Amino acid sequence: MSTQDWRRKRVTVAGLGVSGIPAARVLHGLGAVVTVVNDGDDERSRAQAAELEAAGITVRLGDGATLPAGTELIVTTPGWKPDKPLFLAAAEAGVPVWGDVELAWRLRGRNGRKAVPWLAVTGTNGKTTTVRMLASILEAAGLRTAAVGNIGVSLLDAVLGEEPYSDLDVLAVELSSYQLHWAPSLRAHSAVVLNLAPDHLDWHGSMQAYAADKGRIYEGNTVACVYNAADKATEDLVREADVEEGCRAIGFTLGTPGPSQLGVVDGILVDRAFVENRQKQAQELAEVTDVNPPAPHNIANALAAAALARAYGVAPAAVRDGLRNFRPDPHRIERVEDVDGVGYIDDSKATNTHAAEASLAAYDPIVWIAGGLAKGATFDEIVEKSAKRLRAVVLIGADRALIREALARHAPEVPVVDLDRTDTGAMSAAVSEAARLARPGDTVLLAPACASMDMFANYNKRGEAFADAVRALAAERA
Ligand code: ADP
Repeated sequence: MSTQDWRRKRVTVAGLGVSGIPAARVLHGLGAVVTVVNDGDDERSRAQAAELEAAGITVRLGDGATLPAGTELIVTTPGWKPDKPLFLAAAEAGVPVWGDVELAWRLRGRNGRKAVPWLAVTGTNGKTTTVRMLASILEAAGLRTAAVGNIGVSLLDAVLGEEPYSDLDVLAVELSSYQLHWAPSLRAHSAVVLNLAPDHLDWHGSMQAYAADKGRIYEGNTVACVYNAADKATEDLVREADVEEGCRAIGFTLGTPGPSQLGVVDGILVDRAFVENRQKQAQELAEVTDVNPPAPHNIANALAAAALARAYGVAPAAVRDGLRNFRPDPHRIERVEDVDGVGYIDDSKATNTHAAEASLAAYDPIVWIAGGLAKGATFDEIVEKSAKRLRAVVLIGADRALIREALARHAPEVPVVDLDRTDTGAMSAAVSEAARLARPGDTVLLAPACASMDMFANYNKRGEAFADAVRALAAERA
């Protein structure tokens, strides 16, 4: 759409907030006639509305359901559920609905900026880590890039913004399933779905709908669709995607790679996809120990990031350097300290069972600190798979009984301490109990498999409480 086409176009922005407000301002700047609709009508939204109205944007508070008359396009906050009356009315009236990502995709290449290619990452777990690894690799290759999207940097900023986004070569983009749902015309250079496990099913309506939205990331890829060879559902999504002629399916595996795959051989990450003769040749990229931390699921993330970078033409040495330079974000398998020969690991970000299962697979033996808000999850599978590595379990949080019952069913021999607490101070008691149960060489792992909001403001605060308690323990024992 040219600038001309936006003039006087009637656009409804659905939802104030992190993506709605910038979208409204950008559209207004393009000459569109913007109305923001919002369900809430509280003090905060009134203040936000006043600012937008001062700029000439209409805001309707307390009614996010009715489609404003004459609407030609809706730009929605990604979190709004597709079955909302506003969208049903839009479908009936033939009005398209875009999310912030779709808007950014359509607006790229304006203001004298280059329309740079997107290397896109989604999956149930590991998105942020993989996108950051990818950006680190691209930087090591001397490219100007940024990690953007669901990671906390708006794509509108990245596409239209000032410094540091004004002169980039390529974007490393994290996309959530919600964002993908509302991005019908996005066409990435190359993309990966890291893994698929049930999550956010209340929003999508079914596992099938969730998978289909994740799979949208492959539509129209030009160079590579990267999938997880250990997760068949991701490969199926590649098969179903409608891609550009010549686009390749590239797998990653923790085992020996076949042709057109990246994998691991004798502690080395190797590429059998982006080499001249993939039947006979394997290119060494990095050592497993270059991955930080070298836990199995994180090596998978590194291989996915490497695949996207290689698809973009990055040289092997830059993959190695980028992985070496990469530092994980806090509370993602973060080693806090070793106390009396026991390692204390903070994986507070493991807010679902699929994530916690990955970190439980990385250590042995483990004193596991778990519990919180289960969000409808069941714990039989994670307990069954991890039972043989568990030295003991310490439970906290609102839904701890669900984990305790799964342990009784599948690991009755593992000692369990149920703290029966949901206050913030429970974390320090949990660390004391874990320290009592652990033996030298063990790992005390906070991987709650649950959300944190029953006890903490967020997973960061939960991880900080754990780290504080561990440091207090270290000081006491010193
Ligand atoms: P996301 O952005 O998808 O939430 P993160 O990179 O922030 O993912 O990691 C979140 C948590 O998921 C980590 O703390 C770790 O427990 C787990 N995790 C990371 N990568 C993977 C993976 N490839 N498979 C399974 N779990 C993973």
